[in-house]
Amino acid sequence: MTIPTSVAVDSQGRPLTDLRISVTDRCNFRCTYCMPKGVFGRDFKFLASAALLTFEEIERLARIFIAHGVEKIRLTGGEPLLRRGLDRLVARLAAIDGLTDLTLTTNGSLLDKQARALRDAGLRRITVSLDSLDDAVFRAMNDVDFPVARVLAGIEAASAAGFERIKINCVVKRGVNESSIVELARRFRGTGHVVRFIEYMDVGSTNGWRLDDVVPASEILELLEAEFGVRPIAPVKRSDVASRYEFADGSGEFGVIASVTQPFCRDCSRARLSSEGLLYTCLFATVGQDLRAPLREGKSDAEIASLLRGIWHVRADRYSELRTADTVKLPKVEMSHIGG
Ligand code: SAM
Ligand code: SF4
Ligand code: SF4
Repeated sequence: MTIPTSVAVDSQGRPLTDLRISVTDRCNFRCTYCMPKGVFGRDFKFLASAALLTFEEIERLARIFIAHGVEKIRLTGGEPLLRRGLDRLVARLAAIDGLTDLTLTTNGSLLDKQARALRDAGLRRITVSLDSLDDAVFRAMNDVDFPVARVLAGIEAASAAGFERIKINCVVKRGVNESSIVELARRFRGTGHVVRFIEYMDVGSTNGWRLDDVVPASEILELLEAEFGVRPIAPVKRSDVASRYEFADGSGEFGVIASVTQPFCRDCSRARLSSEGLLYTCLFATVGQDLRAPLREGKSDAEIASLLRGIWHVRADRYSELRTADTVKLPKVEMSHIGG
């Protein structure tokens, strides 16, 4: 394959280093902040399987992205572990030269069964979403009555399969799971795993987001400081979204993702590919650019590469820096469609 290699840089000087690939729009959870049941009910029309990018198509696009500077790929969804044979996709991607970081975000519900196969296929890192250790709170947040014990079993299985420094994502919603902040930190410090507390975001247009529901990162930090004592630590990469901290007693690290109160658009180097091949240049985009059609029309790698360069070149997104009461109401792409 001959893909012209060059680093893609957008109109704000931001390189393209990070790609999130959604492998399905389906999920077995109905987290109230992401896929509220009232919208994603029985009648909701998910994509037909023929609409999804095949593993061959995903690999081909991944190679083109990597030739343009992408170093990190995160597989996501919907719930990525619902995609049959996901370990085969992992093996294909893990074998691509130039990809330094391959990871996956999952709700953990199927991880106990799949952790070993994913690890054996070459997956290097994993993030598990877990909003509470309190079973009642967790069941209410996933809204399908899924028990927290099974997600914890998934994390154990991942650990046993050799995944280290597992990241645990917790979306904090005012009045719902604030009490889980200290609980989660206590449970995972000393294990080598890293909990990341995420401000609840106005993604999509179905979750009824209100600024009042956001617990600011500063408040999360105050709670953890009061309980354990914490110190900031230096970021690894400029484009890292989480601010990193360590517990004062040296028992480990945690992160805080302040996407609402301290936006990080200036360093945003992420593209997102939906499961049917639409490329989104921002988490809050209203439209995506179709890459599946050119693939299926038989366009060459060089033609698709040129399309990608064109899309990234004009990118000017900085939604979070410009967020206003009006933009919050725009019909944005759903998080479950592009995977966060
Ligand atoms: N289903 C998988 C999972 O939950 O990990 C992967 C897809 S999910 C869309 C990716 C991440 O987005 C999860 O960690 C989830 O908690 C987060 N997320 C979803 N909706 C969010 C929102 N409104 N604000 C902040 N984070 C959100
Ligand atoms: Fe599903 Fe993940 Fe969205 Fe929850 S956050 S509904 S697990 S896609
Ligand atoms: Fe990147 Fe868009 Fe989020 Fe800003 S709002 S950090 S441009 S995804």
